[in-house]
Amino acid sequence: MKKLVTLLTFFSLLSTMAQEAILGETPGIMRNGVIVHPEYEGPEPTKPEATEFYEPKVPKVTPGKDGAPPSDAIVLFDGTSLDGWVSTKDGKSSAPWHLNDDGSMTVADKTGDIQTKQHFGDIQLHIEWRSPLPVQRENQNRGNSGIFISGIYEIQVLDQNDNPTYVNGQVGSIYKQGPPLAMASVPTGEWNTYDIIYHAPEFNSEGGKTKSGTVTVIHNGVLIQDHTEIKGTTPYIGWPKNPAHGKGPLRLQDHGDDSRVSYRNIWVREL
Ligand code: MG
Repeated sequence: MKKLVTLLTFFSLLSTMAQEAILGETPGIMRNGVIVHPEYEGPEPTKPEATEFYEPKVPKVTPGKDGAPPSDAIVLFDGTSLDGWVSTKDGKSSAPWHLNDDGSMTVADKTGDIQTKQHFGDIQLHIEWRSPLPVQRENQNRGNSGIFISGIYEIQVLDQNDNPTYVNGQVGSIYKQGPPLAMASVPTGEWNTYDIIYHAPEFNSEGGKTKSGTVTVIHNGVLIQDHTEIKGTTPYIGWPKNPAHGKGPLRLQDHGDDSRVSYRNIWVREL
């Protein structure tokens, strides 16, 4: 009898633990291996008002037209100056890239990466980029640049048109980690858009990663990264690393091989 009571207590404890295993940030909980939503248990309401709520209020955002920033966006580059950017070399001297008359900027070869003065955590990012004409070279040396989120995770920018390369380094990849779901580039010389949703990783007090970052990328309206897990940094050689970090800058890559990649209309919304 005593054994039976002990066994029943054990299973009861297991069941309680399972109920408390909250899945990420979702309100659902695991119970007997199935996700349930406790707020929808009990007697079901019979009046429509019982399932309607009015608080907290949802903020109003006025959308921009034709890719223009929405009303609550932080504009990082609107074509008028590079004041919001610095050289990555020392993190403080002015960004040495070319500011063009058409509201874009272009990589100044071998001057190094540039990055935003402002640092960000979770963001929605809109950025437009263009591979240059005339076409030069091939593979990873054709219009290579990149957008480093938190300053260390590269979303690849590359002139991929008629230009095969390794798939986990092609345009729209999380460099050397995650190939894109599609190659959705416009022809060389036209403007591409990336709309990126990024959730930063989390770290414990010892610096260990407790939750991976994720990234969703829409390339010219086509989903190419679908809430993809970021496994760490994106080095050219070696494994991804997971240094603990907080907010970081947005960094743009000078690949150092006369890439001539241009950028314009860059804005973020903090999430
Ligand atoms: Mg690159």
